[in-house]
Amino acid sequence: MTDTFTSRTDTLLDRAEGLCVGRGVRLTGLRRQVLGLILDAEGPMGAYDLLERLRERRGPAAPPTVYRALEFLREQGLVHRLERLSAFVGCVEEHGHGHDHPAQFLICRKCRRVTEIEDHALADALSAAAKRVGFAVSGATVEAEGVCAECARAG
Ligand SMILES: [Zn+2]
Ligand SMILES: [Zn+2]
Repeated sequence: MTDTFTSRTDTLLDRAEGLCVGRGVRLTGLRRQVLGLILDAEGPMGAYDLLERLRERRGPAAPPTVYRALEFLREQGLVHRLERLSAFVGCVEEHGHGHDHPAQFLICRKCRRVTEIEDHALADALSAAAKRVGFAVSGATVEAEGVCAECARAG
C-alpha cells in the first residue's frame, strides 16, 4: 500500500496521530489513509469518491470498514460530515479541537469551498435559544450557503 500525500497532509496526519495517542485511541492504517484522502482533497469529499480512491490505492475496500473508519474520525472530531453536500471535510487544527466540537461551516455556492469557523458565541446563542423552549442541545453543526470572498471579488 502506497501512501503519497502532500507534505501538508502528512504533517496534519502526524498531528492527528498525536491527538489519538493522547486520547488512548488508535489511528489505524485505514483510518489514517481515509483521513489523508479527505485532507488531501481540494474540497469536501463524498463517501463514494472516497471508496473509489481507496480502491485505486489499496484494492477493493469493503464499504462497512470504510464507514466505520469515517465514524471513528467523526467521533474524534477529525472530520465533519456536511449534510448539505453529503460529504466530509477534514478538521485537524493546531490547537486541537475537542471531540464533537460545535462547528459552523460556510459553503461557497460557486467554488464549493468550505470554510470552518468555530464561533463559541454562535454556539452559545443557539444553546440559549433552545433552552428557552426547554431543549438541551448536545451537538450542533451549522451550515451556511453563500459566496466566498474570493468568488465575490471575481464577480
Ligand atoms: Zn472542526
Ligand atoms: Zn467561492
